[in-house]
Amino acid sequence: MKAGILYRVEDLRIEDVPTPLLSEKEILIRVKVCTICGTDVRAYHYGHKNIRFPRIIGHELSGEIVEVAKKVKDYKIGERVTIAPAVPCGKCYYCKRGMQSMCLNLKAIGYHFNGGFAEFMRVPEVAIRNGCINLIPDNLSFEEAALAEPLACAINGQELSRIGLGDTIVIIGAGPLGCIHMQLAKVKGARKVILVELSPSRADFAKNLALPDVIINPSRDDAVQKIKEETGGRGADKVIVVCSSRKAQEESLKMVSPRGIVNFFGGLPKDKSYVQFNSNLVHYGEFYVVGTHGSAPYHNELALNLLSGGRIKVKELVTHRLPLENLEEAIHLAESGKAMKVAVLP
Ligand SMILES: [Zn+2]
Ligand SMILES: [Zn+2]
Repeated sequence: MKAGILYRVEDLRIEDVPTPLLSEKEILIRVKVCTICGTDVRAYHYGHKNIRFPRIIGHELSGEIVEVAKKVKDYKIGERVTIAPAVPCGKCYYCKRGMQSMCLNLKAIGYHFNGGFAEFMRVPEVAIRNGCINLIPDNLSFEEAALAEPLACAINGQELSRIGLGDTIVIIGAGPLGCIHMQLAKVKGARKVILVELSPSRADFAKNLALPDVIINPSRDDAVQKIKEETGGRGADKVIVVCSSRKAQEESLKMVSPRGIVNFFGGLPKDKSYVQFNSNLVHYGEFYVVGTHGSAPYHNELALNLLSGGRIKVKELVTHRLPLENLEEAIHLAESGKAMKVAVLP
């Protein structure tokens, strides 16, 4: 099969390799779509603590089952599936308490296991056992289904940020995940969604797809003051920082209302991960700061459901489609800021 193999940092080769052989309890899928995530871009440039080279990366994927080993029940050849990439163990302290994304033995597809930038992918037994395979509803394309993964991460993020009825929400950053967050916040009953975005073209894109009620360009306006004006002086109930910016994280703490919640949804680069803030903001504001980064298998199922019901649109997020041979170009495109979601079609 053809596969995009990352041999080391910035050394990616498209090669012919043997199709994975299955153990008695595994499944083989033919990958139909694997979209590029910010973490793929980071892994390409800097590696990742959970990636041992050589590795096939890619974790936002969908495909069709082409082989089912003899001891696997419940799945059939021909079924259309997505695989939740964060594979919990099912046995540890957190798994037993229903917090699979915090699993102490978490293994991930595209990190510990080979991922979706290949014609075929082996689904490991531990993933099957822990509910990582979800069937794709008939009315969804493979491409939409692949985007259930980022939506699942947004669902986890909004669960922990307790987004609910009547909330005023600030989303900082209108990349693909920002657009997903804005739509999800409305589905969850937010009263007003305020987008803070530097790039006019991204803001424009978001305006048509995610329908924010207010758009603030922080290079033109004082975002903190604008948000106060939009919220009767209180600040927003919830602020989700969906970009990789120290400044945005620092500012977010001034945008939130007393007893509100700030979510650092976007991670910061390893060497620039310290922020500075006035701790009295937290002391007097009594607000909460959380961070979220992944999702659990059931978030992926919820995501497919929301997509199937037409509650959230992701199709429009895919602005570029490239064959596997052009994987490296696809990665560069994803990081260029010119694309929203880039889909690789193995
Ligand atoms: Zn991802
Ligand atoms: Zn666990």
